[in-house]
Amino acid sequence: MIPGSFVYHRPTSVGEAIGLLAGLGEEARPLAGGHSLIPMMKLRLATPEHLVDLAGIADLRGIRADGGDIIIGAMTTQHEIVGSDLLAAQIPILRETSLLIADPQVRYVGTIGGNVANGDPGNDMPAVMMCLGARYQVVGNSGERSIPARDFYQGTYLTALRPGEILAAIRIPVPAAGHGFAYEKLKRKVGDYATAAAAVVLTMNGGAIAACSIGLTNVASTPLWAEEAAKVLIGSTLDAATVKQAVAAAEAFTSPAADARGPAHYRTKMAGVMLARALATAKGRAR
Ligand SMILES: Cc1cc2nc3c(=O)[nH]c(=O)nc-3n(C[C@H](O)[C@H](O)[C@H](O)COP(=O)(O)OP(=O)(O)OC[C@H]3O[C@@H](n4cnc5c(N)ncnc54)[C@H](O)[C@@H]3O)c2cc1C
Repeated sequence: MIPGSFVYHRPTSVGEAIGLLAGLGEEARPLAGGHSLIPMMKLRLATPEHLVDLAGIADLRGIRADGGDIIIGAMTTQHEIVGSDLLAAQIPILRETSLLIADPQVRYVGTIGGNVANGDPGNDMPAVMMCLGARYQVVGNSGERSIPARDFYQGTYLTALRPGEILAAIRIPVPAAGHGFAYEKLKRKVGDYATAAAAVVLTMNGGAIAACSIGLTNVASTPLWAEEAAKVLIGSTLDAATVKQAVAAAEAFTSPAADARGPAHYRTKMAGVMLARALATAKGRAR
């Protein structure tokens, strides 16, 4: 299918981009890698009259350390995240997750900002950002806001972004040294969105779980931060009975739709299986 016609804009600064979006109103959309938006336009599920391409804005790119945080520019590609030595050393779950997104062709162009701003519960990065306690740095005509990823997702394709705002960067607190991590994703084939997926970041002390955070992908109308499931695990050694209890808490928190990936009950159960696997892998990696 061919998208409807639109006017293409290519600003070179954040100020110019938000000025364009404010002036053009609701018929304008930011364009990042285009690997979610263009397919939607081809299906006529999105029909923006103006596309404001963020690719020419150098300030929106790059990965850097800032105190105890890492800041990733919104236009950083998934491929750049895979190749970042800084992220590999400090937040390795981002590399693991990026490698499970689509295929190299999509990752060369698809951006981290587009992945988290899109609002599709099938995107992999939002649950990971919730798991990590990331904050989204958002800028618009009325100034800047910092929104916790855990508060950002309101429904399918519905986020806390206001009209005319763009996501400029993601600020992620670096997890404690020696933390364990895992992103486990069930998909029907290489390049597919998740049937269900689970992100885990944990720390251990004397063989017991000292801290744990859990994110779930594609098992509700938004990505989920499974706070209650993680609480169950604190102080445990990840023994089978406690893991079973945490899995039950996580499953109870899901509300997936039935779709081509399977009936709702199956996807809930697969979220539990992914969580159990992610917990075991994360424990094995923790030092
Ligand atoms: C074949 C295929 C398989 C895929 N498989 C997966 C998968 O397994 N997992 C997964 O997570 N994703 C998958 N994707 C989606 C891919 O990761 C996209 O690249 C990503 O979802 C969107 O990033 P983008 O840079 O392409 O954004 P775009 O498509 O350009 O934009 C997506 C949306 O976000 C908005 N937006 C983009 N950037 C900003 C910003 N900085 N500020 C405000 N709004 C913004 C746009 O207006 C649009 O509404 C797949 C895509 C394809 C084509």
